Amino acid sequence: MIKLILLDIDGTMIHAKGAGGLAFGRAFGSMFNLPDGAKGLRFAGRTDLSLLHEFMGMHGILSSRALERDFFALYAHWLAEMLPQFEGNVFPGVRDLMASCRDHPEGPELGLLTGNTRLGAEIKLRHFDLWEDFLIGAYGDEDPSRPVLAGLAARRGQEHLRTPLQPDEILVIGDTPSDVACAQSIGATSLAVATGGFSIEALEQSGATRVVDSLEGLGLETLLSL
Ligand SMILES: [Mg+2]
Repeated sequence: MIKLILLDIDGTMIHAKGAGGLAFGRAFGSMFNLPDGAKGLRFAGRTDLSLLHEFMGMHGILSSRALERDFFALYAHWLAEMLPQFEGNVFPGVRDLMASCRDHPEGPELGLLTGNTRLGAEIKLRHFDLWEDFLIGAYGDEDPSRPVLAGLAARRGQEHLRTPLQPDEILVIGDTPSDVACAQSIGATSLAVATGGFSIEALEQSGATRVVDSLEGLGLETLLSL
């Protein structure tokens, strides 16, 4: 029985229609005077810290915690500015899933497992009125590696629930093979949803416990017994 559900954000819960990538590019451009510096970066399934490290490596810039902090603050500024200018959307079934978790008597805890920075995640989810249900999470400015974030999110979930969980009592929901791989790295159950650009076939090949084309109509009981 699933007791902790860890959700990815982009491509899984919401489609920000490119606002995040553009805000990243704007922050790169203004901080390093490299207006096209983000060109060629692949964003899906990545952590923001790994993207920043890749970008800095491409341009021979040495990373430091202070520089990362300054960059992510600038990115958050641009993200908040750009998000309302794009007609993003919440994917079908997401709000229903969260509502049924809230209403369930043994309600599974909801957490975030995302490559977004903590502040970036909050800005995006507040924009769509989805932030308040998440009491724990692991974020893409804490570590560049998604499997490390998976371990952090699982530990925080168990601390919050005040109970140890079996790995397969944790469900990771995401839209990329990277989400599936990070679930597998902690032995968690995984649900891959093909709303983010990866095909059903690609997600099946990644070894997800279950693959669906949308979260719409998925009953919570089905998810809890995966
Ligand atoms: Mg995603």
